[in-house]
Amino acid sequence: MNHLTSLTIHQARRLLDAREVSSVELTQAFLERIQQVEPKVKAYVTLTPELALEQARAADRRIAEGHAAPLTGIPLQIKDNMCTRGVRTTCSSRMLENFTPPYDATVVERLGAQGAVMLGKGNMDEFAMGSSTENSAFFPTRNPWDLERVPGGSSGGPAAAVAAGEALASLGSDTGGSIRQPAALCGVVGMKPTYGLVSRYGLVAFASSLDQIGPFARDVEDCALMLSAIAGHDRRDSTSLPQPSPDFRSALSGNIRGLRVGVPVEYFNAQGMNREVEKAILDAIAILQGLGAQIDWNVSLPSTRYALAVYYILAPSECSANLARYDGVKYGYSDHTAGSMWEELEATREHGFGQEVKRRIMLGTYSLSSGYYDAYYLKAQKVRTIITSEFQQAFRTHDVLVTPTSPTVAFRLGDKTSDPLQMYLSDVCTIPVNIAGLPGLSLPCGFAGGLPVGMQIIGPALGDAAVLRAAHAYEQATEWHTRWPELE
Ligand code: GLN
Repeated sequence: MNHLTSLTIHQARRLLDAREVSSVELTQAFLERIQQVEPKVKAYVTLTPELALEQARAADRRIAEGHAAPLTGIPLQIKDNMCTRGVRTTCSSRMLENFTPPYDATVVERLGAQGAVMLGKGNMDEFAMGSSTENSAFFPTRNPWDLERVPGGSSGGPAAAVAAGEALASLGSDTGGSIRQPAALCGVVGMKPTYGLVSRYGLVAFASSLDQIGPFARDVEDCALMLSAIAGHDRRDSTSLPQPSPDFRSALSGNIRGLRVGVPVEYFNAQGMNREVEKAILDAIAILQGLGAQIDWNVSLPSTRYALAVYYILAPSECSANLARYDGVKYGYSDHTAGSMWEELEATREHGFGQEVKRRIMLGTYSLSSGYYDAYYLKAQKVRTIITSEFQQAFRTHDVLVTPTSPTVAFRLGDKTSDPLQMYLSDVCTIPVNIAGLPGLSLPCGFAGGLPVGMQIIGPALGDAAVLRAAHAYEQATEWHTRWPELE
């Protein structure tokens, strides 16, 4: 592997600023790496090499003029559910296979303003519904650590691209775990920020009260750099919090002496918890303790057991409303062969959407329908409030909570495709965090059977800096994040 594609963003920054390497050289190294390993990994839906080289040349001019920003000239990938002006944005769905947005998502615009380089768009489960990237309408992505296994999902493309050295970092979206679970399964850092910290404008909506964009990176410092670049108020998203983006890198002091860490018991009894995964997390907690953190083993969040059920009412309900727009008229796929307008609408949705997307739309439409609304949707909203208040209670006396990110390591392709419930259980540890709108980060903390294990660090609302600080301190004391899969 070329040494340039195994750098971190902060290392590449130093080389770029010292003119030891140009952004064009760096970008070319990534394009070559993609050529080499992409046939095996399949992390990209669309590659944009010409655009990347054009952006790299512009970045080199900006660096020469002395106004480089932290991401100027840095080659990145973007998950394919974020709008990119003039570049196809498919959501890995037949419905949007030929959709080219006329505008950039706010996050894409902000990366562009820093002069970042876009290599292409990352594969995903269709409309971000899934935990393995096998629901992509085009092809599954493979886990760089074992090509017979899934990378997780729905942001499997972004996680695999970063793990395989096919991008320095990527952006994903997380509605129930879609950044943290694939980050864990691929052995990279992934963060879902506090709800409202990052603008959702231009993110193709799945479940708007849960969706949040966040970074995938090779280490915590890069994750902080990426988050600082994309966070901050945006008047085009009504749920965007009215505050500027902090410099998250300045939070990385390396010092967590006295940090109050809670370990919620329910996350260790979770259904299907693998004992080797659990052991890796317990070892990681011992390291945090060695760094001076105070560990409280007696935290309980009893309503955690309802979180999965609440999610599978709320997320499908919101999705059934959000996906009503795909009617074959406004944009996207359209089936004109059917005859009447209603028949065309039906045929468009029948052929444009895959199985899982249709399952979610039906579940959601059912729970929102008259007569069932109170029993399902309204009840789920009430339980959501209880889950949120249990977290608030825990954060009165704790700075962060630590849990496994996923109950298992990467599973084999095809293992869970015939049983949706087994697939859904992959997110038991991440879903409660979305329900409560909290920041959560997954970082590498060991291996089980040769496959990466991720530790989840959860913070209170707007405690993103504390989460990053804890993760960074752990990372400094360990070397899991420096390992690479064997792909050549
Ligand atoms: N796997 C979960 C689902 O299928 C979460 C997906 C996500 O976070 N986008 O809904």
